[in-house]
Amino acid sequence: MEKIIYLDNAATTKPFDEMSKIYQDCMVDFFNPSSVYDPAISIRKKIELARKSICEALHGEHGSVIFTSGATEADNLALSCFKPRQGISLAIFAGEHPAVFNKAKAFENAGAKVIYLPVGKNGTLDKVEDFVDSSVAFVSVMHVSNETGAINDIANICKSIKKISPKAIVHVDGVQAVGKIPVNLRALGVDMYTISAHKIHGPKGIGALWVKNGINVSPAVFGGGQEKGFRSGTENVAGILSLEYAIKKVTAELNQNSSIVSEYRSSLIDSLRNEGLSFDVNGEGSPYILNLTFENIRGEVLLHTLEKHKIYVATGSACSSKKPENRMLKGMGKTDSQIQGTIRISFSAYDKLDISEIATTIANEVKILQSKIKGK
Ligand code: PLP
Repeated sequence: MEKIIYLDNAATTKPFDEMSKIYQDCMVDFFNPSSVYDPAISIRKKIELARKSICEALHGEHGSVIFTSGATEADNLALSCFKPRQGISLAIFAGEHPAVFNKAKAFENAGAKVIYLPVGKNGTLDKVEDFVDSSVAFVSVMHVSNETGAINDIANICKSIKKISPKAIVHVDGVQAVGKIPVNLRALGVDMYTISAHKIHGPKGIGALWVKNGINVSPAVFGGGQEKGFRSGTENVAGILSLEYAIKKVTAELNQNSSIVSEYRSSLIDSLRNEGLSFDVNGEGSPYILNLTFENIRGEVLLHTLEKHKIYVATGSACSSKKPENRMLKGMGKTDSQIQGTIRISFSAYDKLDISEIATTIANEVKILQSKIKGK
């Protein structure tokens, strides 16, 4: 593959080389884990071990995981536990990924009461206690924003919600947190937590919903009763074993990886400023994401000019890039033209980056675009 500079790791990451071996082994060891002869039973054991190690990696031994086709399905499965009826409501953070937001909208369209918890100036959910009441039966708040990297204080949010509505179930989308910031499910106090493999150098099409013991989940896919009946269908064995591998590796290497990307992030900000650019940095938190707003340019145009240099960035989140609306940046007080002038750069600690080369290219292209606009 020709040299590229891939800076869109919040959209997806390059799978670890080890994934090919896991997949090859599973093609040889192809048995159905539900069959009852020895080779199949040994695959069943591997799945159960994977389930256990994923919980351990997240300090979630007081619960278990349901494997799904990815985080979108896990988020939907979680929200399916909300059973609308008179006098109860669903609350979600307004900056949620569409996997949560659109499921909540579907509830609202069917007549349920949905409370949208506002995005604060820094991109986080602040003062949750001002917006939830005792009618709230289910809450969904993301851990780390896929757009800005802003980190919600989940432990405190969870505590506040449980104080106001003790029976409320708290679900957290942890897709951009796992392997990137420390995740301790026991300390966070959540009831459900969504994870995805392809954001942590695993394959696409596999994720999981962690569920605390004692929380009732409503089955979303009916069939042969796999995943304790919560999500039927023959298991994606290679995906599950790859997710286990990826999560163990990124959590073990979290501290060193965090130092690498923090250095990338801060030196890119410094280098861009040294190149004479002025811009806003939207949302501080995860060192993996750098969301920048430039005046007088269109992020989409910049994205495509950088593409000519084989530098790949995003305008917003990949999943919502076809929709102009940006709930997160709007909530943070950005105007429409500022939102249009925004790009998202997201790092991987497993890439070697020449930050000064990247900064020079971005700065040159931004200056050219700005001068064209000024000349009009
Ligand atoms: N939640 C967040 C915060 C994400 O960033 C994404 C991916 O963009 C998803 C959910 C959806 O993940 P998946 O692609 O595994 O369905």
